[in-house]
Amino acid sequence: MKPATLAVHAGVADPVPGQPVLSPLVPATSFHAHPDSVGFSANDLTEKTPHFYARWSNPTAETLEQRLAALDGGEAALSFASGMAAISGLFLHTLKAGDHLVLSNVCYAGVAELAHDILPKMGILVTPVDTSNLQAVADALRPTTRLVHVETPANPILRLADIAAIAAAVHSHGALLSVDATMATPIAIQPLDLGADFVVHSLTKYACGHGDALGGAVIGKASAIAALRKESLIHFGGAISPFAAWLILRGLETLPMRMATHQTNAAAVTEFLRAHPRVDHVLWPGSATHPQHDLARRQMRNFSGMVSFSAKNDPDLARRLADRLKLVAYAVSLGKTRSLVFYIPTEDIISSSFHLDAAAARDYRDWTGEGTFRLSVGIEDPADIIADLEQALG
Ligand SMILES: *Cc1c(COP(=O)(O)O)cnc(C)c1O
Repeated sequence: MKPATLAVHAGVADPVPGQPVLSPLVPATSFHAHPDSVGFSANDLTEKTPHFYARWSNPTAETLEQRLAALDGGEAALSFASGMAAISGLFLHTLKAGDHLVLSNVCYAGVAELAHDILPKMGILVTPVDTSNLQAVADALRPTTRLVHVETPANPILRLADIAAIAAAVHSHGALLSVDATMATPIAIQPLDLGADFVVHSLTKYACGHGDALGGAVIGKASAIAALRKESLIHFGGAISPFAAWLILRGLETLPMRMATHQTNAAAVTEFLRAHPRVDHVLWPGSATHPQHDLARRQMRNFSGMVSFSAKNDPDLARRLADRLKLVAYAVSLGKTRSLVFYIPTEDIISSSFHLDAAAARDYRDWTGEGTFRLSVGIEDPADIIADLEQALG
C-alpha cells in the first residue's frame, strides 16, 4: 500500500460486525492477566505477552506503533511520551560508559544539551561533527564509536546529511546509525531504506500536526525495538499517554496531504522572502538556492514546510514580528497546521547548546547569518501567510 493509504489504514483491525470502524482509545492502565501468560518482571516479556500494564504496552499505542512502522518501512516501532523521551531512551540503551557517540553538531537543542551536558557524566564520550561533511563524519569514527546520530534537515538551519553515504561509513566501522527525521517525516524520507539502523521522530511536530499532543518514536528492527522496550520504555518509564497516541493516530491520517500543502506553501513563502529587502540567508531544501539542493532532490520526496532566514542588520526584527504578526504565531515548535515563527540568536545557540568550536561557529554564521528565524509554514492559504509576513516585516 502507498503512504496515503497506510496513513489511514495501517494498524487498524480487520472489519468485524459490531466493532468500531475507528481505532479505539483505550485508557486502561491494567489488563486482565493469568499466571500462565505473564510474570511481573519486564524480563519475562516476550513477543506473545498480552497487554499487561500500560507502561509496557497498550492497545492505542500499539496501533500507533504499527502505523509508524508501516509508514517508515520498518519492522517495528516504539512510542514514547515525547521526542526527547524517545531519543534519550535510545541513547541510554545503546551507549554505556566508555562508548563514543558522534552527533550532528547542529541539531535539536535538547538533544545537543543531553549529549554535551549529561552523557559525559555517565562516561560516554561525545564528538559533535558537521554531518553535511562526509569526510568529517568518517574522521570522527573511533574504535569505541557505538552510535552516530544525525538530524536531517537539522534544526534550526536546515542543513542536510547524506544518509546512505553516512550509513555505509558507519557500518564499515561496526557502529549504528540513528536518524532524527522529525522535520522530513516518513513522507519525505525513509532513513531505514537508506541504511539507517534507527529512525526517530518527535511526533509532537508534523506527525500530530495539530499542536495538541506530545509524543516520540523509534523505528527499526523488531529485535532491537523489543530490547529498547524492555530497557528504555519499561524501566525509564516515558510511555506515551493513550490519549496522546490516539490524537497522533488521527493526525497521521492527514500527514501525506498536509505535507503536500506545507511544501507548496513553503515554496511560495521562500520566493517571497528571497525577494524581500530586509531578509537574508533564506534556506529551504526545495529551493535551487539551498547549498545542498541536489542532495535534497536525491534523498527527499517532499521538501517539508520548514524555512529559515535571517534579518539584514535589523536586531529588532524578532520583537517587531512578535508584536505585529497576526496569523503567524510567534511561538516555538513546528509542523503544525498553523504557521509559527521563532527567533534563535546565533551566539546563544552556538555557545549554550551546540558548544561549537571557532571553525564550526564560523561555518554556522556563514550558513545562516547572525540570528536565525525558524519559520514553520502552515497549511493556511499561502497568500494570507505572505500578507501577514509582509505587514509585519515592514
Ligand atoms: C521537537 C524536536 C525534538 C524533541 O521532541 P519533543 O517531542 O519536543 O520532546 C527532537 N528532534 C527534533 C528535530 C525536534 O524538532
